[in-house]
Amino acid sequence: MSKYFFLLCAAIFAFTGCNEQKKIDALMQENAKLEAAADSLKALIAKAHGATTKWIVKNDTVRAGDGLFQVLYRMNINEKERGKIVIALQDSVELAALRVGQVFYAALDSAGEVQRFRFAPNPATVHMLSKTDSDFSYSRIDKPVTIRQSVFEGALEAGSTLNGILHKVGVSRRMVGVVSAVLQCKVSFQLARPGDKFRILLEEKFYQDSIWISGKVLYAEFNGHTVGHHEAFRYEDPDPKSTFNAHYTEKGEALIFEGLRYPLDRLHITSPYGSRIHPITGRHTVHHGIDYGSPKGSPVYAVAAGVVTVSGYDDLSGNKIAIRHRDNTESWYMHLSVRGVNVGAKVAPRQVIGKVGSTGRSTGPHLHLGFKDARGNWMNPAKKTMIATPKLEGNRLARLKKQVANIRKEIELTLASPAVKANDTDVLVRMRVLK
Ligand SMILES: [Zn+2]
Repeated sequence: MSKYFFLLCAAIFAFTGCNEQKKIDALMQENAKLEAAADSLKALIAKAHGATTKWIVKNDTVRAGDGLFQVLYRMNINEKERGKIVIALQDSVELAALRVGQVFYAALDSAGEVQRFRFAPNPATVHMLSKTDSDFSYSRIDKPVTIRQSVFEGALEAGSTLNGILHKVGVSRRMVGVVSAVLQCKVSFQLARPGDKFRILLEEKFYQDSIWISGKVLYAEFNGHTVGHHEAFRYEDPDPKSTFNAHYTEKGEALIFEGLRYPLDRLHITSPYGSRIHPITGRHTVHHGIDYGSPKGSPVYAVAAGVVTVSGYDDLSGNKIAIRHRDNTESWYMHLSVRGVNVGAKVAPRQVIGKVGSTGRSTGPHLHLGFKDARGNWMNPAKKTMIATPKLEGNRLARLKKQVANIRKEIELTLASPAVKANDTDVLVRMRVLK
């Protein structure tokens, strides 16, 4: 009995087992169909979704005097998003060095929120922001580049200028600008004569071997009959944002000329520096700056290159910004309606840093411009016309000496490459590919 029972059970089991397998096969087939259907459904939903919530792509181009802030403002991106974009990019993009003609792209969803933000400062580098929850995540794409050093050697001819010759042999406009700005500190080009010699070492990055990406003038030398022999060396601190990064003589004398720029487009002094009766308190006080009357919202410019040391608010000064310059003096901008730069940002001369306002203790829209000397005492901004060019000292001078020796070695190495006459001139060019 139990035997039959067992057999019966086995038979039932076999039958149901077989049945089960068929069911599973069927289910799997069904599943595969469903999955395929789900995929096409997903695609359909995505398509429909895309059609109803299509992103709008906007772009805008950097104009003269612009910072990213101005570009975002013109793109109509709201203030909160503007702040987030600047914060997300400021560590990775040299925002103080934007160039006219560079383009920013933003993709906005139907709610006007930025979902993607893209900036390619050159064909080999792409900076990308993607919205995750409410913040942006940053990514960067680097395409391979070639790094090349070139030495240009030649002499002035009758009727030629150094700038003219360098343009003619194909040196990029920006590199020519750097060479002449640096040598100008020492060489009076009116006194340059035919036969005067020059030698220049450039280190440049190229995309696909020919598209110029960026470059540095590592060395510039001029040896003139009347003007004498002068050399300029590119110095760099470990911090790429250091304001000491510039050209120097071998002894550490900076080769920079920098006059102060105006902080506003129109200057209308409403209260000069010195003692006065305060317009609000009525007390006799010393006015530690110059007040310029100006409509609310007028752009406020950095008077010279530097690094932002203060960007904040207090009840007296309202929105205030301070910039430390190369000679350790500081320019201060107060009562702003808008602050456009954060602490640590490197700013260029005449870069827009904010807008005129009447915040803090103020009777109406105006800019209060203050200046602190290198010891931190207020001084009359009107007496400050130039940023003094400092000498490198101590550790920096020692570092310069090493870099000078290195640059001289690089020149020797590049001079070992075969020379080519450039573009129908007598200028000799030698090149060495580093990477
Ligand atoms: Zn004032």
